[in-house]
Amino acid sequence: MAENGAAQANIGVVGLAVMGSNLARNLASREGNTVAVYNRSPERTRLLVGEHPEANFVDSETIEEFAASLQKPRTAIIMVQAGTGTDAVISQLTALFEPGDIIVDGGNADFQDTIRREKAVRATGVNFVGAGISGGEEGALKGPSIMPGGSVEAYETLGPILESIAAVVDGVPCVTHVGTDGAGHFVKMIHNGIEYADMQLIAEAYDLLRKVGGHSPAAIADVFTDWNAGDLESYLIEITAEVLRQVDATTGLPFVDVVLDEAGSKGTGVWTVQNALDLGVPVGGIAEAVFARAVSSHPEQRVPLRAAQGARPEIAVVGHTFQDDVRQALYASKVVAYAQGFDAIIAGAQKYGWKIDKGAIATIWRGGCIIRAQFLNRIVDAYANDPSIPTLLVDPYFAKAVADGESAWRRVVSTAALSGIPVPGFASALSYFDSLASERLPAALVQGQRDFFGAHTYKRVDMPGTFHTLWSGDRSEIETEGSSH
Ligand code: NAP
Repeated sequence: MAENGAAQANIGVVGLAVMGSNLARNLASREGNTVAVYNRSPERTRLLVGEHPEANFVDSETIEEFAASLQKPRTAIIMVQAGTGTDAVISQLTALFEPGDIIVDGGNADFQDTIRREKAVRATGVNFVGAGISGGEEGALKGPSIMPGGSVEAYETLGPILESIAAVVDGVPCVTHVGTDGAGHFVKMIHNGIEYADMQLIAEAYDLLRKVGGHSPAAIADVFTDWNAGDLESYLIEITAEVLRQVDATTGLPFVDVVLDEAGSKGTGVWTVQNALDLGVPVGGIAEAVFARAVSSHPEQRVPLRAAQGARPEIAVVGHTFQDDVRQALYASKVVAYAQGFDAIIAGAQKYGWKIDKGAIATIWRGGCIIRAQFLNRIVDAYANDPSIPTLLVDPYFAKAVADGESAWRRVVSTAALSGIPVPGFASALSYFDSLASERLPAALVQGQRDFFGAHTYKRVDMPGTFHTLWSGDRSEIETEGSSH
């Protein structure tokens, strides 16, 4: 318990459920840190402190004691239930904190809420930092990837503390000041969106190896383990092998066969897609992943359709290269998903006025978080070579990777279509690639349709200006002033 007036702690954590406890333990394990801990229900605080006598904790039963136990400028990380819980704790802390103190929200906040909260808290003189923290409970304990927003001044105090608890890859801590106000939570949201896409693509690869390749889950686990030694090396590939190797103790069946095939979600994938729609950025890979989970969760449609359809198409015959084709299709589709995710970051930065260093984001995703992978080094290199590259797909390394895998990618998508196996991730990534690569798109016809029914006007390939055809008149063309293009 903090003694009256004894401000001993250099950092505090409010909210001691699984994430907060682990983050507090991580902080306390670092040299020089004394960690103030507080939870609304004191039982959690007592439990944490009781179970970890080795940790340098200063526990408080009231938020007033907690504030008093912090050295000035005070720094407190909130790890409570996102939404109303976060707002409640922010208002308690702002009432007790003084100008120059720092409140950090490490929960999974909507970045728009973070923008709102930062503005309101800043008006009191207190700094507010929305920090995306990725890596789940293990990451919080051993070293997460941290994406803080907020002011540059706040980061000067906070940065060294966050750097001391973050994951470290090649000597570099997985934390960077992402940008002002909601930038950190925005980038965390996109991270989660990419995570959805990556997981869906891996799941499609598994499905193809199983249904077309005819391999058992255990054999596919070995394939993923092999792939994990190459370009696809990543935490998600690694855990996929673990999940596929798991055998259900009750039935003796592969674990993956006893799990209900209806995938849930907590909403950050949906947020990513909603925001990308608002920003006008095509993130088909992420959207298809979100929709694939939604489709899986509608047995009331799946079951009757299956009954109505009768026999499914026969599985196409494939050659001995099929397994490697799937690997290449997975890699090419993954490149597309990450390219789309970074496009969303660029568009968000532009809209909200953030200066985001894309290479630094790829750097801090190399460790601690769910999408951690060697692959991210290639993205770091791409942005180092050309920070304003129009899409990662034209970076020489990625362009070659996709070109090398292109035939395999097409074979895999067509095999899936012929065999009746859904590959929304692979197929949408390929269509996106083909859309960007096509010299002409049928968008010209869409413009014609829009002009026909709504006089939305169009531009011509052969002269400047904006035009409209008098479709219900003599069908001659007129040049128009402005446009509702
Ligand atoms: P949680 O279940 O989301 O929330 C429980 C905690 O919030 C408890 O400490 C609870 O206090 C507190 N709380 C709820 N409403 C409150 C209020 N009105 N006033 C004060 N405290 C309140 O906890 P969690 O799973 O540890 O997650 C914490 C945060 O991290 C959340 O924002 C979550 O979304 C995020 N998270 C992130 C990851 C990740 O990988 N980054 C993973 C999981 C969670 P009581 O004990 O008094 O009820």
